[in-house]
Amino acid sequence: MAGSLVLKGRRTALERAEKLLSEHCFPDCNLRGRLFGDTCPLVSLSCFQTPQRIPHDEAVRQEFRPTKVGDSFGPTWWTCWFKVELSIPREWAGKEVHLLWESDGEGMVWRDAQPVQGLTKEGEKTSYILTDGLKETEPHSLTVYVEVACNGLFGAGKGSLIAPPDPDKKFTLNKAELVVFNRDVHELLVDFEILVDMAKLLGEENQRSFQALYVANQMVNLLDVTDSCTFPAVRHLASSIFSQKNGESQHTIHAMGHCHIDSAWLWPYEESIRKCARSWVTVIRLMEKNPEFTFVCSQDGNLPSGESMVRQFLQGQRFFQQQFGKLCSEFWLPDTFGYSAQLPQLMRGCGIRWFLTQKLSWSLVNTFPHSTFFWEGIDGSQVLTHFPPGNSYALKGRVEEMMKTMNNNRDKGRVNHSAALFGFGDGGGGPTQKMLDRMKRMSDTDGLPRVQMSTPDRFFSMLEKEKTQLFTWIGELFLELHNGTYTTQTQVTMPGMGGEIRQWVETI
Ligand SMILES: [Zn+2]
Repeated sequence: MAGSLVLKGRRTALERAEKLLSEHCFPDCNLRGRLFGDTCPLVSLSCFQTPQRIPHDEAVRQEFRPTKVGDSFGPTWWTCWFKVELSIPREWAGKEVHLLWESDGEGMVWRDAQPVQGLTKEGEKTSYILTDGLKETEPHSLTVYVEVACNGLFGAGKGSLIAPPDPDKKFTLNKAELVVFNRDVHELLVDFEILVDMAKLLGEENQRSFQALYVANQMVNLLDVTDSCTFPAVRHLASSIFSQKNGESQHTIHAMGHCHIDSAWLWPYEESIRKCARSWVTVIRLMEKNPEFTFVCSQDGNLPSGESMVRQFLQGQRFFQQQFGKLCSEFWLPDTFGYSAQLPQLMRGCGIRWFLTQKLSWSLVNTFPHSTFFWEGIDGSQVLTHFPPGNSYALKGRVEEMMKTMNNNRDKGRVNHSAALFGFGDGGGGPTQKMLDRMKRMSDTDGLPRVQMSTPDRFFSMLEKEKTQLFTWIGELFLELHNGTYTTQTQVTMPGMGGEIRQWVETI
């Protein structure tokens, strides 16, 4: 075995495994191509379009007209309601069955008059799970509605992403059918992906890279993609790597699901409300299936004065007190364009002692020298501050990102904990099951940072234990980007938004 591995070479062995995962090379006969099994058309599909954002109760009373896959709808900012009548074949007993839905725009599935799942191709959410394992007693025939907003995650920019919206965009339904989802294939694909990434990213000077590579190669040898009876033994091989634990000194990453939705950015405010609905309901579905999963969200701090900031804290703390019976300890503000030196004082006065943002990693000129430090304001107030070293609020839970989070920690030797925010963030959507499945395999695998689900409370409490060694930064946290964005001088109404979104623009 060892001899043949040497002859194959590192690159050949890597490619053997990679080709199994490819969506583009050999999907007719590789593992990736087996993710979905039998398919079945819908019983019927009809739609109703409206320029308004209307409640479900009102929508379902409208007149729906027959439509089909391939048809287009729109234009921009309209809503297309689809009525989906489906019947799951009896012979799919025991199978996991999905409604596969690929369309432009952002969708929400309604079942029994309740929102149950967001569907956005851009956010890698194209499946609504109808059943985990079809039982005889379950309803096989049902009607669901899919409410599709005619805009993308980033609005509907004409030409480029953040350009003013194109009011005439058309949106197309590309796929709507029932399908058997092969969960065992999915799990194997994630196993292979993590091992291939370890082999590639840990590098040739690292023996762990070769251990992962050789195990992946043995897995390819054992695997018959047409015979699921071979899968358990292949998965067992993968777990031989994932279950080899780290030493005590390994870096620990506190992963938190995240979603960053600006109050209104490239879309009308009313769409922000629906973006939240699609994201939150998707997160709740994930929590039902993954009890350890945690989720954090926040609001931007683009406010014009210290007083309005204090009022915002007051509102936020009242909400926390009412909903959770305690005050919030952290100021979670991932995306504001720089931070005034008055903020630490305001935070401490409002019961906050921890602060998190990732925005300063966007600075064009200087790299901020710390990931974890005390930030001191103009009156000497201090808050324990963390910049997630992955430099993003929208990680995907990949090996590369977790290694970056560990390697980019600017306080190595002083702080051994970092935060990692994962999920389709900007514009909404949130995490996916695949992201969670990736990180489960990295919970404690020798050679990779430990990745555990966490909360801001748990995370900052760990940091506080390490605080004696931290540096202090005094004064403003200035962002060297997005210059000239704020002022109290000129009110500009953005074109094409019907006057719904206004932005204060600096005129220097
Ligand atoms: Zn933002």
